[in-house]
Amino acid sequence: MEPSTQSDWVKRSLQSVWHPCTQMQHHAGADPLPLIPVSHGRGAWLFDADGRRYLDAISSWWVNLFGHANPRINAALKDQLDKLEHAMLAGFTHEPVIALSERLSKLTGHVLGHCFYASDGASAVEIALKMSFHAWRNSSLSDKQEFVCLKGSYHGETIGALAVTDVALFKDAYGPLLRQSHVVASPDARLAQHGESAADVARRAAAELETLLQQRAGQIAAVIIEPLVQCATGMAMHDPVYLQQVRALCDRYQVHMIADEIAVGCGRTGTFFACEQAAVWPDFLCLSKGISGGYLPLSLVMTRDSIYQAFYSTDIARGFLHSHSYTGNPLACRAALATLDIFEQDGVLNQNRVRAARLTAALSPLAAHDQVCHFRQRGMIWAFDAVLDDAAAAETFSRRFFSAALEQELLLRPIGNTVYLMPPYILSDDEIDTLAARTRTVFEQVLQK
Ligand SMILES: *Cc1c(COP(=O)(O)O)cnc(C)c1O
Repeated sequence: MEPSTQSDWVKRSLQSVWHPCTQMQHHAGADPLPLIPVSHGRGAWLFDADGRRYLDAISSWWVNLFGHANPRINAALKDQLDKLEHAMLAGFTHEPVIALSERLSKLTGHVLGHCFYASDGASAVEIALKMSFHAWRNSSLSDKQEFVCLKGSYHGETIGALAVTDVALFKDAYGPLLRQSHVVASPDARLAQHGESAADVARRAAAELETLLQQRAGQIAAVIIEPLVQCATGMAMHDPVYLQQVRALCDRYQVHMIADEIAVGCGRTGTFFACEQAAVWPDFLCLSKGISGGYLPLSLVMTRDSIYQAFYSTDIARGFLHSHSYTGNPLACRAALATLDIFEQDGVLNQNRVRAARLTAALSPLAAHDQVCHFRQRGMIWAFDAVLDDAAAAETFSRRFFSAALEQELLLRPIGNTVYLMPPYILSDDEIDTLAARTRTVFEQVLQK
């Protein structure tokens, strides 16, 4: 495509497309936020219409695991396309959805025995919240109507999911529309006081949760958490002991535990499910983003058999009468199966340990920079907080960093003053070294501006 076509795309897009999570005015004016027309993708790289390339170091909003235009996922999808593109899942079933449910359940040692499907992450959260309430109702505990979330939590942007989200920028405008939930302390390890370990912070946060449960367990249906890393609030990481404590408290006070693994599942934190690192299973586990390899919208909620049984009855109204048009879409499920095949065939979790060690080492000069604090890593997530001189610099840091990174062929989008890397699981040694070196270059450039 000619450069003139490229600017034409930008113009047409700004005239007709309302872009997500964007103040559209930022794309106009004297120093506009760039809008990149992507013509194609290959491996870890996105290419624009001018042939410029960008290393997708945030996996296109945390979804892409094995690169763009992955030959194995492409082949699976092409095969599926000629068999069945979609069929409704009520009264019908098909091999991709069966095989995917079986394989995921097996990955939990069959503790989470059933999968309920939707398309986006937020829908999976809605399903888990509704199911939790309804399971208690079916057990004659219909007073259990309240939910608990953590400070800084993010569970999606639909009304129900936003009610258990604690990110002011996304939530405040819609406050009047939302049901109140209980917000308890985050186990974020950065909150450690002098002499406290990450595990101490986790125990302190769990104690606050226990105080609430002592008072209101009779009204509380579930606690929803993002295991190990609260991503959207700025990659806040916590000790796995927190998950053990939440599990124990949920058991003691008869409250469901919902693990939102939409961002942290699928190997992102080093194990396939983040909960494995604490050797606990929740009552509900939400999965989306990486599960389809970043190809198609797919989300699901896995549940324990006891939850499933609470709905199993001759009475239709005791069933879970929830659906989405594309529930269990065969193409999306097939992409997920191809994704699971790659995990198995390539020993991805082991390979990622090697990749992670190399990237952590390559980032060590940046970690030691005197305007970097809280450098942290878990699995295939790296983050640090920029120490900025003044509030004005902080306000525009993220946007300036994004623009400067594009100049260095990197796709990076800091959250506030938190810079993070969440790359696909395919980076070569060269790509790892390039990513680390250029992230440092960008950081130093942005500090100077
Ligand atoms: C992205 C995300 C969601 C929402 O998923 P969508 O597909 O964007 O609706 C929910 N929870 C967590 C933890 C997420 O990171």
